[in-house]
Amino acid sequence: MAGTLYLVPTPIGNLSDVSDRIRDTLAAVDFVAAEDTRVSLKLLNHLGLHKPLVSYHEHNRAESGPRIVRRLQDGESCALVTDAGTPAISDPGEDLVALCAGAGVPVCAIPGPCAVITALAASGLPTGRFTFEGFLSTNRRSRREHLDGLRDERRTMVFYEAPHKLLRTLEDLSAAFGPDRRCALCRELTKLHEEILRMTLGEALALYGTQPPRGEYVLVVAGADAPAEPEATLDDGAARVRALMAGGLRRKDAVRQAAAELGLPKNALYDATLEE
Ligand code: SAM
Repeated sequence: MAGTLYLVPTPIGNLSDVSDRIRDTLAAVDFVAAEDTRVSLKLLNHLGLHKPLVSYHEHNRAESGPRIVRRLQDGESCALVTDAGTPAISDPGEDLVALCAGAGVPVCAIPGPCAVITALAASGLPTGRFTFEGFLSTNRRSRREHLDGLRDERRTMVFYEAPHKLLRTLEDLSAAFGPDRRCALCRELTKLHEEILRMTLGEALALYGTQPPRGEYVLVVAGADAPAEPEATLDDGAARVRALMAGGLRRKDAVRQAAAELGLPKNALYDATLEE
């Protein structure tokens, strides 16, 4: 029987965020697949665990992925860890999960630290519906297409960004959504200097125009406002009155109902129907 691939989240800044289940899973697996073995070795040492490590990252996933899947098919269990946060969210872990799913290898995701959810929760922006946009491409065309596709997005949007690219991303977001759009810059989450800056995109641009961004950021941006309902005219009201009268209502009652439905002044609507 195939072993299981465990997706094991690791702290995004605060080592106390390692849960019992995270620790127990790392202790129980046969080997750990790590984005950067040096980073993960430090964490394993901190937890007092000694595990065989293999490397699995952006540049070796094509060879390393199938090797890991073969070991899983032979019955070993593996914990996939990345440098920080939840594996498979904006990192090559998603490919390994797809390989396992295709090969019928069980995958078990352990809940834990994840930058997108931590930022969204603290943003102060609506969380009921949101969309995770990950990193914007550095390729000009795909970046523009991505942002064009978000112009009318009503849900709260979450972006990852590296600090040295933050200013350009703020410029592009401000050009796409307007400088008055609200946002939350969630910086150094779970770390000593954690900061949530709630402002408009224009204000964020002004801020980082004078002081360069430092540390890690998640950008949470408010969705577009709902388009304003077009206001009803007296002609719309008169048409509604006619329809109600055709349905058997007296003019007075039809006017009262149409005025309430469409937010029109009763007397003006009454006069308008008489003028027809
Ligand atoms: N898989 C990870 C997750 O979802 O938690 C994210 C990996 S992604 C390669 C790294 C990005 O996550 C950073 O560029 C930054 O946007 C965000 N990030 C990670 N840790 C953070 C922190 N402590 N504070 C703010 N953003 C963070």
